[in-house]
Amino acid sequence: MNYFMQTAIDEARHGMDHNHGGPFGAVIVKDGEIISRAHNEVLRTNDPTAHAEILAIRQASELLDRFDLSDCEIYTTSEPCPMCLAAIYWARIRTVYFGSGKEDVARIGFDDSRFYEIIRSGNGSELSRINIEKEKCLELLKRWEKKPDKQMY
Ligand SMILES: [Zn+2]
Repeated sequence: MNYFMQTAIDEARHGMDHNHGGPFGAVIVKDGEIISRAHNEVLRTNDPTAHAEILAIRQASELLDRFDLSDCEIYTTSEPCPMCLAAIYWARIRTVYFGSGKEDVARIGFDDSRFYEIIRSGNGSELSRINIEKEKCLELLKRWEKKPDKQMY
């Protein structure tokens, strides 16, 4: 049994047993050591973004005091949802180990596969996307471009 995945499973069980959230856990590993571990806490915190991967990334970033986790790997008990996948990309993590697949997760009612489909197709969503005040908002981007002390990430 993979020790890192076992730890992620233990996290998921702990969260599930305490009604913190769904049956999901994640750990982040750097240089062969676990630097953060988390479980889904959507129910406990009423935070819809409190997925295990997101919480593990936040902890790891805080611990390392940087937003670039490109030297880290993430182990997650289920295939990351689109939000977590995007967060993993933003964190520049290069390897994701996952256990159950998104089809397995959909089978127990966590149907994020429809989010994958919406993102892929660009339609079929109940979300209204309305573009307003573009010029005013573009001014922010221009200001950023000219900012002499900006730090890219
Ligand atoms: Zn997620």
